[in-house]
Amino acid sequence: MPGRFSGPVRPKADAWALTKWELRFYPDHVLEEISSSVGRYDEDLRRFADRMCVFMSEHGGVGLAAPQIGILSRIVTVDVKGVEKCLVNPEVVSSSDEGDTDTEGCLSIPDRWFCVKRSLKIEVKAKSPSGKRLHFEAEDFAARVLQHEIDHLNGVLICHHGTGMEQENSYHP
Ligand SMILES: [Zn+2]
Repeated sequence: MPGRFSGPVRPKADAWALTKWELRFYPDHVLEEISSSVGRYDEDLRRFADRMCVFMSEHGGVGLAAPQIGILSRIVTVDVKGVEKCLVNPEVVSSSDEGDTDTEGCLSIPDRWFCVKRSLKIEVKAKSPSGKRLHFEAEDFAARVLQHEIDHLNGVLICHHGTGMEQENSYHP
C-alpha cells in the first residue's frame, strides 16, 4: 500500500500526538474496539497521560479511557481518592462476588444513565506512565469507576451491560 511503512513495526507514538482532543460519542465504532497494550513507557506516554488528566477534568469526568478520545491504547485516568491518576495496561485480577447496582453515566453517552451491576471490591494490576508496577485493591465508588474505565478498553460500554436498564426511553411499546 503506498505510503505505508512495511518494515518492523514500531510502537505508534505518533498516534498519541493528537492534534485534536475531542470526545468520541456512542455509537462511534472506536468505542467498541479492543485497545492494545502499551509497550513503551517514555516521554510521549507521560505527556499523553498528563494531557488526558487535564482533559478529564475539563470535561468534569471522574474517569476517562483513551478510546474515548479515539486512541486505542490501554490507558485510563481516574479521579478517585486513593488511586493513582493514570493507569497504563490496567487489569482486574480478582473481583468480589458481592456486587452492587447503581446508576452510571459516561462522557461518551451524554445525558443518559444506566443501572449497572459491579463488583464491590476489585484487585487491580497496572503500571504508572513511568512504568512503575502498581497493585492495589479498590472498593465501592473507586471500584465502580475503575471497572467502568477498564470496560472501555475492551470495547464495553454501560449500554451493553445486560443488567443495565436505561432510565430514559426504557419503555418501548
Ligand atoms: Zn465511560
